[in-house]
Amino acid sequence: MECHGVGLHSGAPVCLRIVPAAAGTGIVFRRVDLDNFEIEATGRNVARVSYATSLQKQGVLISTTEHVLSAFIGIGLDNAIVELDNLEVPILDGSAQPFIDLILKAGLKQQRKKRSYLRILREVEVREGNKFIAAYPAPGYSVSYKIKFAPPIGDQSFEIDLSRDQYSKELAAARTFGFLREEEAMRNMGLIRGATEQNVIVLTDDGVKNGPLRFEDEFVRHKVLDLIGDLALLGKQIIGRIVADRAGHAMHTALVSRLLKDKSLWEEITLPGPADERVPAMAIATPQQA
Ligand SMILES: [Zn+2]
Repeated sequence: MECHGVGLHSGAPVCLRIVPAAAGTGIVFRRVDLDNFEIEATGRNVARVSYATSLQKQGVLISTTEHVLSAFIGIGLDNAIVELDNLEVPILDGSAQPFIDLILKAGLKQQRKKRSYLRILREVEVREGNKFIAAYPAPGYSVSYKIKFAPPIGDQSFEIDLSRDQYSKELAAARTFGFLREEEAMRNMGLIRGATEQNVIVLTDDGVKNGPLRFEDEFVRHKVLDLIGDLALLGKQIIGRIVADRAGHAMHTALVSRLLKDKSLWEEITLPGPADERVPAMAIATPQQA
């Protein structure tokens, strides 16, 4: 099960393959072009974070991990190896939908082990200027996000209860976006070399250059998609309420670091209830599955 594309920032051609992994593996990226070097998708390996989230281990990089990790959380895939033959995850159409389609094509398989969750026990808030992100105890996983951008975006907000299986319908297809007037400066920084009107919503002062939008509020939905992908670096599904205001990858990963550093803020649990009702961990099903 694989797909081909280019990295949004590097412009590098890349082939991505998702392969099954044993229960308890979590999500691991594997650079097949570098002797199968593996980098676990965890906050400990977060490297540079600016316009995308990158992981780094012993000098080896995996860039723009947020959309594929978001898809995994959204569809409930707990254990997988993501093989790449270059340094950046392909941008495809700029959303998480192609990864969802890829996973659904292979199918998911229940594993014997129960899924473990990270349940928020105490509130944690991170503030930086007018940017804010927080996690609060709650019965399920929900996200509430506010953004404020220059026109034509303006103020948007979005809230979603992820424990109700709405990811595929409400978030997966929301695409990344960028302002045309910032294009040159970003290219001069070595960014968005793979950007095209097929993988980014391009914004001018007047509106959307390459419409139509998939959702009227596609921008804030994409920020929620990104946030879920960045919080996937906690290594588990969350039970808690996340609130973000004008945050970005740096704030998202700052929250991950705070949570990983202070283990009194959360506990690791399987869902309460009789053992046979607890949610099993999920892996990709493929014919090669042992
Ligand atoms: Zn994104």
